[in-house]
Amino acid sequence: MGKLTMGERLTPSRRQLLAGAAAGLTGAALPQVASAKAPMANTQAPTFYRFKVGAFEATIVSDGPLHMGAPAAGVFTDLSKEQMLKELDDNFLPTDDVALEQNALVINTGERVVLFDTGVGTAKAFGPDSGRLIASLKAAGLDPKDVDAIVLTHAHPDHCWGLMADDGGRNFPNAQIYMAQADLDFWTDEGKLTNPELKDFIAGTRKHLLPNRDRMVFVRDGQEFLPGIQAMAAPGHTVGHTVYVITSQGKTLCNVGDIAHHHTIVVENPRREFVFDTDGKQAVASRLRVFDMLASQRVAAVTYHFPWPGLGHIGKRGDAFRYYPTPLRTVL
Ligand SMILES: [Zn+2]
Repeated sequence: MGKLTMGERLTPSRRQLLAGAAAGLTGAALPQVASAKAPMANTQAPTFYRFKVGAFEATIVSDGPLHMGAPAAGVFTDLSKEQMLKELDDNFLPTDDVALEQNALVINTGERVVLFDTGVGTAKAFGPDSGRLIASLKAAGLDPKDVDAIVLTHAHPDHCWGLMADDGGRNFPNAQIYMAQADLDFWTDEGKLTNPELKDFIAGTRKHLLPNRDRMVFVRDGQEFLPGIQAMAAPGHTVGHTVYVITSQGKTLCNVGDIAHHHTIVVENPRREFVFDTDGKQAVASRLRVFDMLASQRVAAVTYHFPWPGLGHIGKRGDAFRYYPTPLRTVL
C-alpha cells in the first residue's frame, strides 16, 4: 500500500460538509447525547479461556505476565541485542519490555480437576502483574479446593511457587502433586544453596515442594498416570522438564510448558538456547523433537509463556517452525 497523503479522496466534499451541518442541526434537538460518559473501567476482562478436548473441558487461566525488561545480549544464544530488537519490531511487538505470559491449563476430565503448573505465587522478581492465578481460577468458576491434581512441567519459580500461601498453608489443599523426580531432587538440593546463581531458586522452591513431599507422585516418561494424561520427558530447560499429552475421544492437546519461551524469537529459530536453560543443547534437542511431533501430527498445544492464552499450532517452515495461534471462539 502506498503512503497515505491528504489527497482529494480524504478531503470532505462540499456535499459531505453540508450533510454534516444538517446532522449537527438535528443533533442539537436531541437530548444530551454527547454527555453520555462512563467512567474508565481500568481493569482487564477476566483471564480465562475455555474449550473442549473430546469429553474433557479445558480452561486456560492466567497468572499474569512476567516482565523481562528490554532486550539484552545473552538472553538467547546467537542473538545480539540489536538483532533481538529488530525481530521484535518486525513482528510488531514492544521493544521496551519482553513480557512472558503465564498460561496455566486446567483439565476437568469429569472425574478430576487437573491444574498444570501454579504460577509464581506472590514473588515479584518479574514485576507487579503476576500472582493472579487463584483469582483467575475463581473468575472461571473453579474453586482451588476442587483441584484434585497439580501436574508440574518443571520446578522453576513461575511454575511451582504458587503451591504454598505466604502463611504456610496450601493454596490447593486437596491436590496430589505429579512431577518428575529429577526436578524435585535438583531444585530442592541443599548442596546448591551455596551456588550464587541457583541459591535463591533453590531456597524458594524448597519452601513450596518439601512440605508437599508426602502428596507427591513421580511421573515417568511415557506413563499415563491419570486417565487420558500421559507424561513425555522433554529435558534440557530443566533436568526433569516434562510435557503432557491429553487425549479424550480421539482428540489430543499437548501441554508443552517451557519447550519454547517466545512465539517468534524461538519458534522461528528453534536452535537458540535460553539463558535459564539448565542444559541448552538438550533443551534444543527436546524442542525440535516435540515441535516435529506437534507439526507432523497437527496437535494443538498450550505453551506456558506464549501470548495469552497460549493455545495454538506449531507448523513446519523450512528447517524451522511457525506459530499459528488458534482462533478464539466466543461460544463453547
Ligand atoms: Zn517458565
